Parts: sequence; C-alpha cells; structure tokens
Amino acid sequence: MSGRAAPSSPASMHEVSERTSDLVELVLRYARDRILSTETPLDKPIPPIDLGRLAGRSIDEHGIGADRALSRFEHVLAPACITTDHPQYLSFIPTAPTKAAVAFDLVVSASALYGGSWLEGAGAVYAENEVLTWLAAEFGLPSTAGGVFVQGGTLGNLSALVAAREHARATVARDGTETPQRWKVVCSAEAHSSIASAARVMDVDVVAVDPGEDGVLRGAAVRSALDEHGASVFAVVATAGSTNFGIIDDLASIAALKDEFDVWFHVDGAYGLAGMLSPVARNRFAGVERADSVIVDPHKWLFAPFDACALIYRDPEAGRRAHTQHAEYLDTLTETSEWSPSDYAAHLTRRARGLPLWFSLATHGAAAYREAIGASIRLAQDIAREIERRDGFRLVREPQLSVVVFEREGWTKADYARWSTRLLDEQHAFVTPSSHAGRPNTRFAIVNPMTSFDQLTAILDTMA
Ligand SMILES: *Cc1c(COP(=O)(O)O)cnc(C)c1O
Repeated sequence: MSGRAAPSSPASMHEVSERTSDLVELVLRYARDRILSTETPLDKPIPPIDLGRLAGRSIDEHGIGADRALSRFEHVLAPACITTDHPQYLSFIPTAPTKAAVAFDLVVSASALYGGSWLEGAGAVYAENEVLTWLAAEFGLPSTAGGVFVQGGTLGNLSALVAAREHARATVARDGTETPQRWKVVCSAEAHSSIASAARVMDVDVVAVDPGEDGVLRGAAVRSALDEHGASVFAVVATAGSTNFGIIDDLASIAALKDEFDVWFHVDGAYGLAGMLSPVARNRFAGVERADSVIVDPHKWLFAPFDACALIYRDPEAGRRAHTQHAEYLDTLTETSEWSPSDYAAHLTRRARGLPLWFSLATHGAAAYREAIGASIRLAQDIAREIERRDGFRLVREPQLSVVVFEREGWTKADYARWSTRLLDEQHAFVTPSSHAGRPNTRFAIVNPMTSFDQLTAILDTMA
C-alpha cells in the first residue's frame, strides 16, 4: 500500500492520491491508537550506540516508505522516549494533556494555520485570545490585558523581561534621567533557571535575593534590593509556584512595592499559576492582579500538549513596542491596528499553539479544570500526610501546590540514583533524585488526574 513507489511527478508527495491517502490513514490510525491507549508503557532512553544499531538510517535518496518509517518510529524510536503523560511520570513537571486537547492538536497541524497575524489567522487568533482573556480575568488582570502563546516558559520569561527593559529605557528617555551602567533584574535565589538564562541573552545582571528558610520571597527582602540597586533595576520577578517545591512567593507584599518604586513586576507562574484556577489555592496568589506581565504553561498544569506558554501583559502595548519586527514586506501587517500575535514576543512565524487548550476548555468548561487541578493539590496533601506517618521518611517542606519533596532517612545520593534507575528499569515509575540545601531527596510532581494515592504509596513501598 503506502510503501515505496516511483515518484511520478514533483507533486506526488502533495497530491491526493491512493498512495497519499493510504499514508494518511496509516498515520492517523497510529495516532488514534496512541491517544486512546490505556497502557502505553513508561519506556526509557537507550544509549546512542544501541539506538544507532536498532534504528540505523532512515534517510536516503529514495525513501524507505511510510510503512517502514512508521514502523521504525513505533518499534524503535517511540519506545526510546519516556511517556511524559504516564500517571507515574512524577519527575520535573510532567504533562497531562486532555484527550480533547491532544486530538485537537492534530486538527491544528492539519489546518495549516498561520498564528502570527490577524490578516492570515484571524479565526485562530480570536480563539487564542479568548483563552488569554479568560486566564487574565482569572488572575485578576484587567480586561484589556493580552498577549500570546509562545513555545515555553523560558521564551515567555525572556519576552516579558525584554518588554520590561524596553519600558524602563523609554522611561529614562522620557524623563531625561541617566541610563544605568548595567540593567538589573531582581528575583529570588530559588527562581527558575530561565530567569538567569534570559539575563544572559539580554546581557543584564541578576540580583538574586535570598528568600529565607521557607523559600518564600517577600516584599521586605525585595525592598532591600531595590534600595541598594535603585534605578538600575528594570524588573522584579516573583515565582508563583517554584518548580522544585511549588512554593509561591509573597506576591502581595512584592506587588505593594509598586506604590513606591517604578518597577515592572513579572510573575513567573509557568507551573504553579494554574493552581489559581482552583478555589482550594486561589487566595495564595493574592497580588498577582498587580503584575505587569505573567506567564503560565498550559503544557504543565493546564492539560495541553507540548509546547505552550501563555504570556500575558497588563498593557499589551508595552509588549508590542518591544517586539514588533519591521521590514518592508511586513508593512501590511505592522501598519494596521489588528492584533498580530507575532508582535508580542521574540518570534515571528508561529503555530496557533493555544488552540488545543481553547478546544479542550470549550469542550469541558472551566469547572472541570478547577476540579482536576484541585484534585492534584489534595492528592499532594494526602501523600504528604502518608510520608509523615511512615517511619524512615521525612517531608522536606509542606507542599503548597502539587509538588511533594521528601527524604528517605539515611539514603545517600547514590541510594536515590540506584532506586530511581530501578523504578524506571522495571517500568514502574519515573521519579528522579533531587536535592535541597546539600541534602539528597526525591519529589513527586503531580499534575496528572490519573495519578492515584495507591500508585504513590506503592512507590513509597519500594523505598522500604
Ligand atoms: C518550567 C518552568 C519554566 C520554564 O518553562 P519551559 O516551558 O520549560 O521553558 C520557567 N519557570 C518556572 C517556574 C517553571 O516551572
């Protein structure tokens, strides 16, 4: 069927023919089976040399045909990728897309949508903006807030900080004050590594403020940094749910500094800000409504597939001024007042990557999201109590959201590493070693509503 056939014309790959229809059927059948499978194994990486031996070369002048290429993916390449939406994938921050979101991702691909401009993708842009406006309202931002879905939190943080510095530069130019020798961004010493990465790209300095014992950055500590570094600080970054612990900085006391200091307030909520959708956790985010920009990653705790970060500006014009690209051939786009997502981040061509979330939200309604997010928070609480109850276990910090960090007393780093490798080898779970303040530990990061208390206790049992 869809095997090798002599290409008869330059259009043979593009035209609708028996050959291309067979190929599409083949691929869609695979995708459907994967989406509906209840027993996709965890799988695991294998060394490059072994993969090289098993997968060999797929690309030559003539093509190996769709059957063989798909079979190679199914039997060799896919099994060498960890299943990140597996209920017992509990490392880093997992992903857990709804069936609706994954299925609709296929539609996004099939529809050749250009998500960069209103001119080309008005319908897609409208739907993405509906999601962004809804999120902004959840976070207490004004109805005029807006932004764009970018590839991930790293690019979201970078784009927000670039807009912040542009804003600071414009203020300096307007007031005729002196340009600082070095621009600085203030954040917690426990802020995500992407803030330091953004600073490197922008060639600005990071002022890392010690958050203190409990890991929570507070206004008082930020105030000292602002007093010390003055007008060279163009932005303060607070974290709404740290990656390692799910800790939420004291957003309200940091936001209050805006009354005294003219500084851009960015909230990095890549993982945790989704928690605000649940009434269980909502009040812990008080203060986010004063942010100048926020990010949250739908591919983390908003049940969308990779890769999507919602970047929202209080004043979208600040984002547009910083990021619009100018070129003669783009003039038709940039000389209108229409909303072009390309203008709000460091990118141009873009996938309408907000649409899987739009479809899933439209299908299921917001209440289902609140419920699913709340369930992860409750499960984190339940397993924290279980860890405290068990002899030989120690909870490192009380979970605020859905990350639970704990120690097995007496275990060395090597013990955790051996145990973690065994769990994956046995295809039981993916739980990696971590550490805090020089002490080794491990953590459960829970975002998948299919993860159960019994699955987690069974993992604890393997540490006996
Ligand atoms: C994951 C994460 C990021 C980076 O997001 P990516 O989508 O991986 O680029 C930034 N900040 C926090 C707090 C995160 O948890």
